[in-house]
This record gives sequence, C-alpha cells and structure tokens, in this order.
Amino acid sequence: MLKKSLKNKTLIPKPPTVVILGHVDSGKTSLLDFIRQSNVASTESGGITQHIGAYQIKHQDKIINFIDTPGHEAFSAMRTRGAKVADIAILIVACDQGVKPQTKEALKAIREANIPFIVALNKIDVPGTFPQKTKKELSDCQVALEEFGGQVPLVEISAKNGQGVDSLLEMVNLITEIEDLTYDPSLPGQGIIIEAHLDPRRGPTITALINNGTLRSNDIIIAGNTYGKIKTMEDTNLKSIKLAAAQPVIITGLENVPAIGSNLKKVKTIAEARQITQQYQAIPKITQKINLNTEDSAQPIASDQTFNLILKVDVAGSQEAIEACLNNIPQQEINLNILRVLVGDINESDVKLAMATGAHIIGFRVKTDPPAQALANHQKIWIKTFQVIYELVEVIRKGMGQLLSPEIKEEILGQGRVIAIFKQEKNAIIFGAKIIQGKFLQGIKIKIWRNDEIIGQGRIKELQFEKKKVKELEKDKNAGIFLEGFNNVTKGDKIEAYQEIRKKREL
Ligand code: GDP
Repeated sequence: MLKKSLKNKTLIPKPPTVVILGHVDSGKTSLLDFIRQSNVASTESGGITQHIGAYQIKHQDKIINFIDTPGHEAFSAMRTRGAKVADIAILIVACDQGVKPQTKEALKAIREANIPFIVALNKIDVPGTFPQKTKKELSDCQVALEEFGGQVPLVEISAKNGQGVDSLLEMVNLITEIEDLTYDPSLPGQGIIIEAHLDPRRGPTITALINNGTLRSNDIIIAGNTYGKIKTMEDTNLKSIKLAAAQPVIITGLENVPAIGSNLKKVKTIAEARQITQQYQAIPKITQKINLNTEDSAQPIASDQTFNLILKVDVAGSQEAIEACLNNIPQQEINLNILRVLVGDINESDVKLAMATGAHIIGFRVKTDPPAQALANHQKIWIKTFQVIYELVEVIRKGMGQLLSPEIKEEILGQGRVIAIFKQEKNAIIFGAKIIQGKFLQGIKIKIWRNDEIIGQGRIKELQFEKKKVKELEKDKNAGIFLEGFNNVTKGDKIEAYQEIRKKREL
C-alpha cells in the first residue's frame, strides 16, 4: 500500500469511508443496522435498500464513515460509484448462499476502485451452513484469503446477533492505520454527493461526503451542475453543525438537485458559482435523447419505432439506477427516447409535454399532482407510478415490445400442379390445378414455382370445384382458381398455398 507523507503539517489523519457491498439478501442492511443499532430494513419497498445514505459511527474511539449502498443489481452503477468514494470495502457474502453473480459484480467494482477490502462471511448463525464452501468459491474468484496465504482478511459474522461484528470493525480500524488516510483541513471544503433529493419542505437536499478541506455552514458551494449558499448543514444524526471535515453531511440551500457522484466544492462568491455552473446549464435538459445503446446501428429510426418517456423520480440516485437498468433493454429495433427525467412529483408540465409528444409518463416513488391527474384523465395520457425499479423497467420493456413489428411465419397449407390455363387478365389469371397435398382455401395466398424457383405470388380470389364456388378444397380434387396479383402462370407450374402467422414479439 502507498504510504502518504505526514511531513506536511497540514495533513491530519482522516477516518475511513467504508462501503458495504454484496448481493441482495446477503445482509448489508442488517449489518449496517446492527452497527447503527437502528432499524432501516423494515421500511424498505421490495426489501431493497434504494438510496445511498451515509452514517458515522465510533468503534474503540475511532470514527468510521459508512456509505450505505443498495444491494439490488439495479444499482450496479451507484454501487460502482459507492466503491469509488470509499477507502475500504466490506464484501459481504452470506455463507448459506455463497458467491452470487452480484458478489462478482461487487468484486469487480472493488477492484476497479482499487481499494482494500475485507470479506464479511455473514449468517454464520444459520445452522447447517458450510463456510468453507463459500471460502473456496471466493478463492475461485481470485480472492486471496489470508487463511490460505493471501492478503484479504475474512471475518465470520452474524449481522443478526452481532457475532463477529466487533472483529470486523477492528479490522476496519487496522486497515485504516495501514492505509494512513489523511486530509488537509486548511483547504476549502470539497466532497462527493452520495445522495440527493427534492425535499417538499426544505427544497434540494443532498448528502455529501466531505473528503478534503473544511466546509463551513455559511459557504457558497457548487454541487454538480448547480450551486447555492448553504442554508442548513447537519451531521448524519441530523444535528446542525457549523464545520464539516472528513465526514458525511446533509446540506440544503442549492438551487437544484445535483446528480449523485458529482463533486461538491466551496467557491468564493455566488457570481463565481453561477459562472462555473453556467456551462453545464447550457446543456438542454428537455428533449435530451440519451443514447442507451453504445453501439447503436447507424440506421435512421422511424418515429413509430420510438418509445417516448417522461420519467419523474424521488431522488437523483433512483434516476441513475433506473437508467442503468434501461440500458439493458435492447434498442436495435425500438428506440427509447427519454424526453425528460427529473426529480419531483408528476405535474401539469409533464402531462402537457406528454400531450405534445405522445410520451408515456412514469414515476418512481413520486405522486401525481391532482391537477396533473385531472388533465391526464381528460387527455387520456398514460401515467403509471412504481415503488420497485424492477417493475418499472418491465413495464417499459413491455411497452416498447408492443411497438415491435410481429414475427411473420409462413405455414404451408397445400401444394398442387397447374393443369390448364383458362383465362389470362391484366393482373389476374384463371387456371385449373390438381391439389396434391393438404388443402386450398378461398382468400389465401399462393406462390407459383417453376424450375424450383418462385416466379410470383398472388391471392386466391375465387376457388371453384366443378364450376361451383367453394370455400375449401382438399387433396386429389381438381380446383378452378381465380388468382389475383399475378398472371404469368403456365401448365406444369407448381403452386403452394400458405398462410401468414403473426406472432407477437417481446424485447
Ligand atoms: P440486504 O439485501 O443485503 O440488505 O440483506 P438484509 O440485511 O435485508 O438481509 C436479508 C435477510 O437475511 C433478512 O431477512 C435478514 O433478517 C436476514 N439476515 C441478515 N443477516 C443475517 C444473519 O447474520 N443471520 C441470519 N440468520 N439472518 C440474517
């Protein structure tokens, strides 16, 4: 590990920021919960932790900052970012479930972030589990566990009864000492936004991890593409504070809700903040078409192959998570065009945009304003809101699927041979044919074969048997056929009756 020099007097030790990663149900929430002695898990929708929050705890007089990253695969984007803002990761693996695809994703994120990590082997209280099996699976993923001569520490824990959690936190403290984390409190405050939402009372509200310098409660800050003078600054216990350094804080006072993962920094004046953020604001937000497929075909896309969407979300983190999921919907045939994606409830302006563009409105953990609902009802605008990202994405996938042209399959109904030509017209012909296989029906299509090649096709306008109109004729009968759409038929040609079966496709 790189040791940083402490010669510079302004550098002082910094508490670590720890991220807990692992697959859904591995016990991330329970562990954070146990550590914080509170209860977060019971309030989650669909059992998924949806937002990155941050918490500060003390273990043996040493402060540890925890980032609470969500575990569902929907959040891989945020997770990656979570790992990047962290100094140390805890990879949690439940020993009754073992290594899952999401465990591997988490490992990838940790490796990309290039930070040390500890494996927390959870649920050791569950009877009949085999911790050794999970350890072997981890080794198979190139996790060099200390126990097998590598450098990665593993602590067996139970997030349920707290067994081993002290040892885990001790291990965090040990790694912190080795890592020699420092920051410079004399610098202007700077940090990373790990949570952002529009609070109905307090306006744009962010959780930021201040990772260098000192932030003061009356500072002017830039946060992503927005700015403001800090109105309130609180620690993670929601206690008002005047100074923040090397810790997560909750801040209000910004003009807008910034994107998660963007940087925060103090500037001197509002004018400076405005000037710096102006370049971002020049980027139009509305009718911004996000290219979700990096390797899109260069073919132009017709408008009926576009699914227009207006997305309203509760917090910026959800937006990012949803966009990450939408990325997985194939778009070679149907283009997903997100006209607007904003934090906040669904309002009249959204409905008006939908009216003008034919877009669908989807909300995630937001409400629809009564006037917007009334307008939507009147104008028959489609609005749907969701609490769980997976369900939201599936509805979009299905909606896009409905725009797909159906798969057309040909089913051969019968075959025959032309035995006589009765009358040739401009774009039609009447001929006699013997049915060799299957059956022929009035109204269906036929293909004309000559020398093993299809030379044309048309539709049976009229079918006759012994000079009488019939609807259907079977094998071995001689048929009189009035074919429209093609007239180049001669004696000896083969004919094939077929019908098209349209099958709905899904994305
Ligand atoms: P997350 O999805 O990773 O946040 O997982 P949760 O913390 O929500 O835990 C998933 C389930 O496993 C819940 O029902 C927890 O009560 C249970 N659980 C978590 N940790 C333990 C543990 O150490 N022992 C046992 N027996 N159950 C656990």
